[in-house]
Amino acid sequence: MGALERFEFTQIRMGVDTRIVVYAPDEERAVRACRDAYKRIAELEERLSDYRADSELNRLCERAVRRWVQVSPELFYVLWRAQRLAQQTDGAFDITLGPLVALWRESRRTQKLPPPVELEEARQRSGWRKLRLNRARRAVWLEMPNMRLDLGGIAKGYACDHALRVLRRHGLTRALVQMGGDLAVGDAPPDSQGWQVLIPPLSTPDTPKTLFLTRCALSTSGSTEQYVEIEGKRYAHIIDPRTGLGLSALILASVKAPDGITSDSLATALAVMGEAGVPKLRRHYPRIEVWLQQIALDNNIVSQ
Ligand code: AMP
Ligand code: MG
Repeated sequence: MGALERFEFTQIRMGVDTRIVVYAPDEERAVRACRDAYKRIAELEERLSDYRADSELNRLCERAVRRWVQVSPELFYVLWRAQRLAQQTDGAFDITLGPLVALWRESRRTQKLPPPVELEEARQRSGWRKLRLNRARRAVWLEMPNMRLDLGGIAKGYACDHALRVLRRHGLTRALVQMGGDLAVGDAPPDSQGWQVLIPPLSTPDTPKTLFLTRCALSTSGSTEQYVEIEGKRYAHIIDPRTGLGLSALILASVKAPDGITSDSLATALAVMGEAGVPKLRRHYPRIEVWLQQIALDNNIVSQ
């Protein structure tokens, strides 16, 4: 085989820039493989998206009210991983927060706090115990009407894993797939020790941390990019299920894991749990590495 060349593509998928970098023997191979990888992500989006009214996920929310509904293997696997993490984190990670996520999305648009009555009503329709799974039947059951499931904290990492798998099937093992704050990588680029990626610093005087990654995934979640500030207080797009409010702490959680579904979901969970979550998650996921950057009330940066 001749020398490998680097090719890079970007498309918007699941609402974020989705970047694929591959090393391939020629452009045709690269284009064909990446086209299939994007197609796979689009298929997953049709199943997992909460934005699309006709996604399998949204249809499920209408159909599975107090009855068992069978779903696709992909959707079931993501729901199952999410519910397992909900249990492991005492509900800090919670995909049933859809009604609250929608309220806070509206707040970011209007710059106004959600009315307390609506917050309370949305909380009534949330709670991970209201979603039940039957693994043998690959079936899902929801406890009440008008529940909304939101896989925004886990689906992108899962999609990165699948895109990488498609590239590998095309024989392109030296690849990186990045969707917003989530990325998964295969073998290292030629003549290198790994894919060079940066963990962004939480505050400006700090410099990013450089990592060289192979065959793993890295996700970063936190309150620094999507948030609304009202009366001097920050409310981020990640919600603390205990309060129903968007996160106020300034926090960035980065997790390296063997695959994207793990790094993505754990990073979101850690953003909610903070320091206390690190030993808990390590117990269940011994192969993870964690970088937690946080500005405490006294303005000291705590990192790990
Ligand atoms: P990420 O960008 O992976 O950190 O995920 C953030 C997204 O996850 C949000 O935009 C919501 O769609 C969803 N989300 C918000 N709060 C939670 C939570 N506590 N547990 C699980 N998913 C959440
Ligand atoms: Mg996440």
